[in-house]
Amino acid sequence: MKATPHRFATRCAHAGAKRTGEAENEPVQPPIVQSAIFNLGNIAAAEAIFSGAHKGYAYSRFGNPTVEALACTLADLEGGAEALVTSSGNAALLCAVTCALHERQGPLVTHQDIYGGSLELLRILSTVYRVPVTIVDATQTERWLEAVSGAGAVLVETPSNPLMRLIDIRQTADRAHSVGAALVVDNTVATPFNQHPFDFGADWIIHSTTKYLNGHADLIGGCVIRRKPLAGIHRSIHKNFGGTVNASEAAMVLRGLRTFALRMAVHNRNGEVLAHWLKGRREIARVYYPSLPSHPQAELAARQMSHGGGLLSFELAGGEAAAVRFFDRLKLIIHAVSLGGPETLVTRPAKSSHRGMTAEARQQAGITDGLIRLAAGIEDSADLIADLEQALSPEA
Ligand code: PLP
Repeated sequence: MKATPHRFATRCAHAGAKRTGEAENEPVQPPIVQSAIFNLGNIAAAEAIFSGAHKGYAYSRFGNPTVEALACTLADLEGGAEALVTSSGNAALLCAVTCALHERQGPLVTHQDIYGGSLELLRILSTVYRVPVTIVDATQTERWLEAVSGAGAVLVETPSNPLMRLIDIRQTADRAHSVGAALVVDNTVATPFNQHPFDFGADWIIHSTTKYLNGHADLIGGCVIRRKPLAGIHRSIHKNFGGTVNASEAAMVLRGLRTFALRMAVHNRNGEVLAHWLKGRREIARVYYPSLPSHPQAELAARQMSHGGGLLSFELAGGEAAAVRFFDRLKLIIHAVSLGGPETLVTRPAKSSHRGMTAEARQQAGITDGLIRLAAGIEDSADLIADLEQALSPEA
């Protein structure tokens, strides 16, 4: 009889476990195989490994048992067939986009509000390697779908940050597939706890595991997951680009993943509680959070995401002066980039992720001087509200 697949939280709790039942007394946690090289044995054994006739290891950039344990877990959590582990989210993007463009000639089509570091990477690809890149305002649905119709591959990030705009994955995948283009979804912000892009037709998923998946803000990492099995060319792109990881880092991500479901439930709850609390404050002009009824794409959010997530943005009615005062007064919440760790963090996009834009372009994109991005951690929400309250309250 076939075993029933375990539920999401159970699969997280057992991340990386490959219990064969064959070895007595086997370790419960996967061993950390911290070796760059493997003994190939005699010439026939080496030939079997190199030709792929026999599963084996030669060199850890090509494959490593601990890193593979992580790859299997990541593929499983996203519902994909196979995954590649990378040294950062940006390395994952480079790998996935190259794999996707290998399948079909044509421009890489993406939207203007993907992560700033992703945009910078695409600019390098376009200027140095002459990869055609088309960047579209995806809020103009007709223009977006028209660009997708001419794509070699499509890259989306949903929700985007800091303005938490959503892309309809199903609609984009259908249009991309109608011309034979693959769809890559950056699922870092939503996570597989809240959104399953493969269910809506995505072909590739990438993550910065730096964020929620590792969850402890103590390493940089990434991954690429394919809905279908990986081909030899995909593994070749991954290993030859060289953005691979060592076993010790893979083991740290596996450790983070064991509590992923537990942590995400709290990130989601805190995101939801803080979004609603901020919405009711007169000092706040606007709150951007996917599952708020006031979100312009609330219906799409309900269809595509199971929860609003841990990331939100809000605009202070008092603009820049109010933002400076707010940051000066915070006591518990930390002014730091990134998201997905235990601590609640805030940044000011106009002065961090979007500082490279002109003031006019920022204004047009909706990145005002009073806009604040908040990445909810896993603290007690009452303490977070108390900190926000004292930071917003008028001078005594
Ligand atoms: N994708 C998103 C949505 C991100 O927010 C980030 C980093 O902030 C990245 C990708 C890049 O990840 P990394 O910093 O791990 O390279």
